[in-house]
Amino acid sequence: MIRSKGIKIVGGTAIGVIRLYKTPNREINPSPAADPVYEQVRFESARKTVMAQRRELRLRTHRSLGKKEAAIFEAHEMILEDQRFIDQCENMILEQNRRADMAVSVVMDSLVRDLQESDEEGFRARSSDILDLKRSFLDVLSGVDNSWEHGDRPVIIAAEELAPSQLINLDKEILLGIVTRKGSPFSHTAILAKSLNIPFIIGCEDISSDWDGRKAALDADEQCVYIEPSPEIRKALTRKQEAEKKDRAELLKLKGQDNVTIDGHHVELWANIGAPQDIKAVLDNDADGIGLFRSEFIYLGRDAEPSEFEQVEAYRSVIEGIAPGKVIIRICDLGSDKLPGYMFSGKEENPALGCRGIRFCLTHRETFKRQLRALLRAAAFGGLGIMIPMVMDINEILKTKELLRECSDELTKEGLDHKMPRLGIMIETPAAAICADELAKEVDFFSIGTNDLTQYACALDRQTPGLEDVWDAHHPAVFKLIEMAVKAGHDAGIPVGICGELASDTEVTGRLLQMGVDVLSVDPSAVLPLRRRIRGLKL
Ligand code: PEP
Ligand code: MG
Repeated sequence: MIRSKGIKIVGGTAIGVIRLYKTPNREINPSPAADPVYEQVRFESARKTVMAQRRELRLRTHRSLGKKEAAIFEAHEMILEDQRFIDQCENMILEQNRRADMAVSVVMDSLVRDLQESDEEGFRARSSDILDLKRSFLDVLSGVDNSWEHGDRPVIIAAEELAPSQLINLDKEILLGIVTRKGSPFSHTAILAKSLNIPFIIGCEDISSDWDGRKAALDADEQCVYIEPSPEIRKALTRKQEAEKKDRAELLKLKGQDNVTIDGHHVELWANIGAPQDIKAVLDNDADGIGLFRSEFIYLGRDAEPSEFEQVEAYRSVIEGIAPGKVIIRICDLGSDKLPGYMFSGKEENPALGCRGIRFCLTHRETFKRQLRALLRAAAFGGLGIMIPMVMDINEILKTKELLRECSDELTKEGLDHKMPRLGIMIETPAAAICADELAKEVDFFSIGTNDLTQYACALDRQTPGLEDVWDAHHPAVFKLIEMAVKAGHDAGIPVGICGELASDTEVTGRLLQMGVDVLSVDPSAVLPLRRRIRGLKL
């Protein structure tokens, strides 16, 4: 038995035969074009064919998965229609006498290099889309059909890397799991695999051609794949699959039930999201509302700041999608590990302690005002709360309120509909927890971000690999800070929630409820397990 480690992208288990997905390496003919005009016609005809293929994939994906997933292929169509891309290829053909396949290859490789040099992982991950398009182009130009034959037996696929179009073209009825050597959690393949709920691990260095056709078991939860698994491993994974199926069926029975303890203590159970498309998971898992919409994700993975209108539409779709449930949108927590390339202004010595969250907003006034205006306009569509990230003192709240008033006056003058949302703050610095009594007088609610609160209370970087063993989510200092914030909030008559990872830790649910926490906001997949835990508790 071989046990090979990887990194989890989508959890779950699979048992079956492993098949190697081979993407043929296309040879590019380096000789100059014999007839450049003929090569230009070949290029244009191939471009149109790839466009038609992508359109078909987009429509198919829209039907089977939805709009968000289909947008992946819409973006491919936009690249193919981009005039700069077309001009670059045509110039290479007509002015440098290159063959069509050489021109496409050079132009796309240069795009890939630019993306891979980006500081932002979201951008680097987009390079696999360009490689996907390049491969399709070269297939069409070579006239060879490269659709991969997997037969009709269920398989776990092992590949160097799997492109979005390759994944969508696979028969999902027989696709049990995916293991790749390369890949990124931010790639479009990862997004599609999540929507399809196919167990998937990346970074599996041991993949080799002699795995092809062998029996395998994938345990994506444990981030590993077994080749020729022992009978014990097979038995254990089969048991796990059966138990998971049964457990999910049990959990689904809790939909529509109250989050109430045996002795009648009710708590709000909300969900955390990173994009409007996540609403489906929130509704499927029956959360009461959205306790944290990490709005900074709207700014990432793109090459320009989102406009005010674009933001209004994104916030509005969340508010309307979850109504009558309430929504809390966090003001963008940009900086530290979440900084788009177009806002990058030099490396910081210590980014986690640098220009991040509200500090970033107050030093990027125009960007901040654009978001505040969008939030004020979106608030007119339903119950909206907004909250300030990384607060450390009262002046940051006062300055935000001043800007909110300024934006509201501007919108009134412009005759644009808007409403003042409820204003809260994240308690995620020890300074905010310690001064919570003072801060509570200025806001409508608190939401405790235990991820950062733990990082800053323990002076322990949450990003540095290798520190996982020292990370203590149950550190007594963190619980003392939570207790201080809850007491200060309640003394001032405002509700206090938790939206960090600790909120879904069922080991401490009883303790958090005893402290008086009013709202727990968690990943959508954690809502029903947490509801079960709450319903089994007696405080
Ligand atoms: C937190 O810090 O606990 C939190 C919810 O915010 P983020 O994880 O996005 O920093
Ligand atoms: Mg945080």
